[in-house]
Amino acid sequence: MDNKQITVTAPLLPDLDEFNRMLKDIWASKWITNNGEFHQQLEKELCAYLKVPYISVFTNGTLPLLTALQALRVTGEVITTPYSFVATTHSLWWNGIRPVFVDIEESTCGIDPDKIEAAITPKTTAIMPVHCYGKPCDTKRIQAIADKYGLKVIYDAAHAFGVEVNGESILNAGDISTLSFHATKVYNTIEGGAMVLHDEAMKKRVDYLKNFGFANETTVVAPGINGKMDEIRAAYGLMNLRQVDAAIAARQKAAQLYRKELKGIPGLRFFEDMPGVRHNYSYFPIFIKADEFGMTRDELYFKMKEQNVLGRRYFYPLISEFSTYRGLPSAAPDNLPVATRIANEVICLPMHHELSENDLERILNCIKNR
Ligand SMILES: *Cc1c(COP(=O)(O)O)cnc(C)c1O
Repeated sequence: MDNKQITVTAPLLPDLDEFNRMLKDIWASKWITNNGEFHQQLEKELCAYLKVPYISVFTNGTLPLLTALQALRVTGEVITTPYSFVATTHSLWWNGIRPVFVDIEESTCGIDPDKIEAAITPKTTAIMPVHCYGKPCDTKRIQAIADKYGLKVIYDAAHAFGVEVNGESILNAGDISTLSFHATKVYNTIEGGAMVLHDEAMKKRVDYLKNFGFANETTVVAPGINGKMDEIRAAYGLMNLRQVDAAIAARQKAAQLYRKELKGIPGLRFFEDMPGVRHNYSYFPIFIKADEFGMTRDELYFKMKEQNVLGRRYFYPLISEFSTYRGLPSAAPDNLPVATRIANEVICLPMHHELSENDLERILNCIKNR
């Protein structure tokens, strides 16, 4: 077997010749950004593909988080998860909002709805959960709590592109959901992101906010930012939309093989599909209990690395352990026992559309022949 490096992910890339033809159209039009034709078409096609009413595309996945908080005028304290990519919490910090960390559920790695109410104070204005690994949060229970206390809900749905529950998009939950189209995600526009909105008025407000607050040539209605996606990446995004289903199917095949081959290994846990859910197979996390598995998570992680198989310890360390946040009362490990444990058990195995049988065999051998 060869020993080439197996990376945790690989970008979905459009056909270069076809992309060149689109670039020629852009060059001919000389319209390279600011709500151009491809930008408009991408928003339209994303709405259809994702089964959502309104979408606003952005230049990355962090700006929609920042802008969603502005659009909903969120202030004070926001309840969120420590088990995510740092951008989730950074978006609160950049808005002068205090993050309040709540522990996660072992079964989904999402925020534990049972623990949300105890974290609500008079300053709480919103909940920001994450559909971690694209596994849907319990959106009904979270909404019931939000309604009871009059809170907004913003889902960081960066992992949840195309995820559906009983035929309905998970992106329709809450007040706003945000997506990332970064190169490492299931669907990418190199850098990019989007906000999913439920009504035209909010779509309009967000479109103003991502263009400095301009409502027209001479009117600025709010202190907006520059979050606009350019025509080149919109064209790239249109092409990738045509092949994302095939990429998800290839990922599903890899996930099925992982599950078949890893079943029954003591001290190794992984997720099964959830009933009624269309998953996107964005990540394949495994969770290692060292005493039963006979090796710690880090020992396995570095052993894989030695064999040129790159997993990722997503999410380790917890966001609450970074220096900016560790001083917050809610960041104490005692407050976050499940997240603290899971962060020390997890490795995301390589998962993308181009894993060969040979790659998968090498990855599985690292784990089986320990
Ligand atoms: C990738 C990611 C983001 C940030 O997206 P960018 O496009 O990289 O800015 C935010 N939240 C989560 C959970 C992510 O995985």
